Amino acid sequence: MIRIVLKPGKEQSVRRFHPWIFSGAIKGMDGLPANGEIVEVYSSAAEKLGTGHYAEGSISVRLFAFGTEAIDEKFWYSKIAAAFELRRKSGLTDNPDNTIYRLINAEGDGLPGLIIDIYGETAVLQTHDRGMHSLRFIFTEALKEIYGAKLKAVFDKSSEKLLKMGVETKNSYLFGKQESRICKENGLMFEIDWETGQKTGFFIDQRDNRKLLGVYSKGKKVLNTFCYTGGFSAYALYAGASLVHSLDSSRRALELTGDMVRLNNFDDQRHNCIKADAVEYLKNLDIDYDIIVLDPPAFAKHLSARHKAVQGYRKINEAALRQIKKGGIIFTFSCSQAVDKNLFNSTVLAAAIAARRKVRVLHQLHHPCDHPISIFHPEGEYLKGLVLEVE
Ligand code: SAH
Repeated sequence: MIRIVLKPGKEQSVRRFHPWIFSGAIKGMDGLPANGEIVEVYSSAAEKLGTGHYAEGSISVRLFAFGTEAIDEKFWYSKIAAAFELRRKSGLTDNPDNTIYRLINAEGDGLPGLIIDIYGETAVLQTHDRGMHSLRFIFTEALKEIYGAKLKAVFDKSSEKLLKMGVETKNSYLFGKQESRICKENGLMFEIDWETGQKTGFFIDQRDNRKLLGVYSKGKKVLNTFCYTGGFSAYALYAGASLVHSLDSSRRALELTGDMVRLNNFDDQRHNCIKADAVEYLKNLDIDYDIIVLDPPAFAKHLSARHKAVQGYRKINEAALRQIKKGGIIFTFSCSQAVDKNLFNSTVLAAAIAARRKVRVLHQLHHPCDHPISIFHPEGEYLKGLVLEVE
């Protein structure tokens, strides 16, 4: 294995279990690793600090092991088994009413570059780098051993992510074949399209926040913008909202939302799909919605796009704040990693000032427990939300 030696002092963050080695921290290497190759990282005093995947770019190594741990099949198995145990502890692995959860949350589970989501009897794996992708069959074997007969298929959904790195792959089944796509989240049914859908097919990270929307929705008129599969709409309908409008600019998203309404036998007199640009629609509302959900896609995927993203968040929040009726509630989110909690909060504050509305924060939201964050890697925190009451 190629050894990478850090500059003096640069071992500090590794000792604090931060998993990234930036290129500027490297003093030297005893070879030139290929992208995705496993490398060992040493301090300038020749102490082994950990093992990780090498990649060209500003983050040169992503560590999956700290100290001197041996990396073999047992190592990978134990990582997946530990992640399973964590989900078991929080009651996610054996709940017939909730068959959707995240099993591996990259750095949060000590496996940078790897996501595994569970949809009923199918596991959907998404790797974000070459190194993790080369291990996909080892992960599949570990999943088969841990889940036994409960696992019928493993689907690899890495191609879009890897293409950005210049690696061409095809999304395909690594084990089994297509099984039922109908899964449950808190008792509500969704048909998950992991083959062509966004992310691994569903936005699992909003599970707890969608449930909270249900608490506020009885008898209310709800506008769910950026609805995708209609996750928030499902909870509002179930809770007895008097009217739910699901808005998205994508026709496919609205088809999926329509499927969700039929699948759950919701009375579709109360539900309507709106194909529109959310920003345009919010400029002038004809309906006095009681609740507006704003869950846009990541406006900033990189730091360089942060400024533009902030303007985007400010614009939609200001429009919703201007338009919502007196006493209305806004569920507003950002899933951009580059926009942290403080920046998001001050952006919403700026929107409230511009809209000249008096606003109180009722809840501060984030991702659920199956999306754990290493306390040493705050960069892993990406989903932030606020529930606002607007006087
Ligand atoms: N709230 C969803 C996830 C949202 S994903 C859930 O709970 O599952 C973001 C969605 O925003 C996508 O479906 C995308 O099609 C939609 N979108 C992107 N830009 C948009 C725009 N300008 N107006 C309306 N919808 C948009």
